[in-house]
Amino acid sequence: MPRSIHLDPDTLPPPGERALAIRLHPPGERAVRSGHPWVFEGSIRSVKGKGGPPRPGDVGVVFDRKDRFLAVGLFDPDSPIRLRILSSGTQAEVGPGLFHHRLGEALKRRQELVSHPATSGYRVLHGEADGFSGLVMDRYGDGVVLKVYTPAWLPHLRFLLPAIHDHLAPKAVAVLASRALARHPWAPPALQKGAFLATRDLSGDRRSGNGSASNPETPRPSKDPPSAAPRTDPAPFSLPFTEHGFALEAHPFQGHKTGFYLDQRENRRRLEEMVARIRWEENSRSGPFRVLNVFSYTGGFSLYAARGGAQEVVSVDLSGPALAQARRHFEINRHVVGSANHRTREGDAFKVMEELAAEGERFDVVVVDPPSFAKARNEVGGALGAYRALTGLALALLRPGGLLVQASCSSRISEEDFVSAVHAGARGAGHQLREELRTGHALDHPVTFPEGHYLNCLFARLE
Ligand code: SAH
Repeated sequence: MPRSIHLDPDTLPPPGERALAIRLHPPGERAVRSGHPWVFEGSIRSVKGKGGPPRPGDVGVVFDRKDRFLAVGLFDPDSPIRLRILSSGTQAEVGPGLFHHRLGEALKRRQELVSHPATSGYRVLHGEADGFSGLVMDRYGDGVVLKVYTPAWLPHLRFLLPAIHDHLAPKAVAVLASRALARHPWAPPALQKGAFLATRDLSGDRRSGNGSASNPETPRPSKDPPSAAPRTDPAPFSLPFTEHGFALEAHPFQGHKTGFYLDQRENRRRLEEMVARIRWEENSRSGPFRVLNVFSYTGGFSLYAARGGAQEVVSVDLSGPALAQARRHFEINRHVVGSANHRTREGDAFKVMEELAAEGERFDVVVVDPPSFAKARNEVGGALGAYRALTGLALALLRPGGLLVQASCSSRISEEDFVSAVHAGARGAGHQLREELRTGHALDHPVTFPEGHYLNCLFARLE
């Protein structure tokens, strides 16, 4: 069975030969000078280039009014983000050398994770922050998942893949398209389905071997893919990896993000520490220590709570498959979570929390980590209202002195607005919270421009 997986460049559009000369209106010019990685459609004064209309992925060079070089990036004629800047201030040739260098730099910045003995799942490329605007790449053990957000990257992927091979030598590379890209006429058919997986070695030669379920480092397609033919039914494919000593599985093609929420890794670890600390402070208490994990996905926070000493953990999610994987995660980590009892409850979080309150349930910790409620600007008000409501529902289930962990993952909602909504939700329910910790982005999800900040998490005790 071929283990190395190769995106066939023949299915991708070829890179253009030409470069576009782009000139901007003054505000756009100022934004680019200040290092902002996006040039919006409305900032553009002119685009000049030979050989027909611009195509996605054409290299665009931005010049100032005196025709001096400002930046170079990838052009996307169909997107409001018209140019994704790859280098500002310094000239750079867009191609294999640049990608190779940038990937190396990104790995150096993550050295702590790269050499971590008990973590093999982390974000390698976080888009703009790593000089790859419109692209993210996560490592899961011996596999990587590339998520592409714009057709502008398609002609250049063939040059990125060898760099990935050189730096990481992955045994599997899965490529996912964002929803917008999957609909783009340029996306190869497999990508239009939202996923593309081919099975040749990245470097062109073949290797063989069998995946092993007992080795969390080995990618383990559960069905043997047919030799070199692209697999377009990737549903059973999972990538085993480790996170702070847990054996985990990411499902790039069925799951969310690239298959797992790596961005909450450090918050999960903090939860474990806090559970352990509260347990220690209250060592004479009677009754089991109980944790409720709402919007649990595949049970990340639940596992950490259990290892921290929780005796009963309840995971709640709308997704049955996510909860099945959460149960599997408990099974394969039994040696780590000991005798902790894990239950799952499938359903709408708002409804399930009301039901649990009506059943008289009480918890020592409640984790609330919903999906982004504000994908568009006009959804911000509704999202803040939902956060307030969730806080009220969570506190009805929390015992006095208990810990609330609530997160928001929308770049449109600032930390201040989020935290205010949580406090307002508490007050509205007749409670008061004492903040313990506010956290944001981890080392592998760096933030380099305002729109890049999306994750906020509050740890607070119920007074
Ligand atoms: N805390 C998780 C990530 C949560 S992502 C982790 O650390 O891995 C958000 C989750 O919310 C997804 O699993 C999604 O299935 C779930 N979800 C979305 N809407 C929901 C709803 N109304 N009720 C319950 N779960 C919901």
